[in-house]
Amino acid sequence: MEKKQLLYSGKAKSLYQTDDDHLLVAEFRDDTTAFDGEKKAQLENKGAVNHAISNYLMQKLEQAGVATHFVRSVSATESVVKKLKMLPVECVVRNIATGSLCRRLGVQDGLTLAPPMFEFFYKNDELHDPLINRDHAVHFGWATADQCDQMQTLSLKVNEILRGVFSDAGLVLVDAKYEFGLSGDELVLGDEISPDSCRIWDALTQESLDKDRFRQDMGEVIDKYQEVAVRLGIDLVVS
Ligand code: C5P
Repeated sequence: MEKKQLLYSGKAKSLYQTDDDHLLVAEFRDDTTAFDGEKKAQLENKGAVNHAISNYLMQKLEQAGVATHFVRSVSATESVVKKLKMLPVECVVRNIATGSLCRRLGVQDGLTLAPPMFEFFYKNDELHDPLINRDHAVHFGWATADQCDQMQTLSLKVNEILRGVFSDAGLVLVDAKYEFGLSGDELVLGDEISPDSCRIWDALTQESLDKDRFRQDMGEVIDKYQEVAVRLGIDLVVS
C-alpha cells in the first residue's frame, strides 16, 4: 500500500491519503499542545510512545468487540487506519472528578464517580471545545439522536474495558476522551487513546502519568508516558 499526499495535519497527528480510498496513514508526531494550542512543545519520542500505546489499546478493544479504525502498524510512528467521517463531538468518560469538571462545577477534586460520568463536548477550537448536551448535538446536526446514544453506550463500554486493562497494570484510568466517525453507517472509534487523551494515575501513589504533566509543568513527561507503556507490557521502539 502506498502512502500519498497529506490530507490533514492536526495538533499532534497527520493523516495521509493512500492508494486505497478507504484507508489512511496516521502519523503520530512529537508535537504537543495544551490549552487550545496556546502552549506548544516538541517532546522527543512522544509520537512513537503514543502510537504504541494507542495501537495496543485499540487492539484490546477490537478483541473485546469494539469497532476501531486501527488496521495495522507500518512504522514506529505510523499506522494504517480506516478512513472515517468524523463527528465533531468529543465524548468524555470520567471515573474520578478532576480537570475541567472541577473547574466548571466546583466539585471536589479526586471524588470517585460511580457510575462513571459521561459528557459531550463540541469539537471547535475557536469556541474552546465547549461542553454541550445531546439536544445541542442533534439540533445543530453534529450527530443524530441515535448516534448520540450509540456514542454514549460505546464510550462507557470502552471505559469499562480499558479500566480493567489499566487496573491490571497497576494504573487508574481517571478519565478519557473518545472520538467517533462513520465508516458507511457504522460508528467506529477513531483518533487515539494515549496519555495525551486520557488521565492515568499510578494506583498506589496517584502520581499523574499523562498530559497533565505537560499542562502543569511537572516535568518528565515522556518518561512517564513510557512508564505507562512499559507497565502495559508494550515493546517500545524509541530512539
Ligand atoms: O479537560 P477535561 O478535564 O475536560 O479533560 C477530560 C479528559 O479528556 C482528559 O483525559 C483530557 O486529557 C481529555 N481531553 C482531550 N482533548 C480535549 C479535551 C480533553 O484529550 N480537547
